[in-house]
Amino acid sequence: MVITVKSEAQTELIDMTSKIQEAVLSAGISSGLCMVYVPHTTAAVTINESADPSVRSDIMMVLNKIIPWKADYRHLEGNSPAHIKSTLVGASELIAVENGKLVLGTWQGIFFCEFDGPRTRKVQLSVVSC
Ligand code: ZN
Repeated sequence: MVITVKSEAQTELIDMTSKIQEAVLSAGISSGLCMVYVPHTTAAVTINESADPSVRSDIMMVLNKIIPWKADYRHLEGNSPAHIKSTLVGASELIAVENGKLVLGTWQGIFFCEFDGPRTRKVQLSVVSC
């Protein structure tokens, strides 16, 4: 199944935990796995703290610092930093499901990472029972 995420900034971490949890519930499985896959070359997915929004802004601040928007990039589209961040953070996460719920730590959330927004993006979810 596919969920849609709408980013509103060039770089942004968007908490999609509740949307994914809803999708897992609608899949009707008790225990299994949920793969979250971002089919984009300038976006990613990561799991990190969702309680304090400062964590996501700190993550983005450091990514923007170590991968500056302007440098001697060769890619003509002009969005090489977004491609590089996408590769570093990664396109997928695999989360266990138990009793119909995503197995996440108390402070963990699943974040869509926008690196070349704002855009409307798709996130592929594959839920399997096992
Ligand atoms: Zn590009």
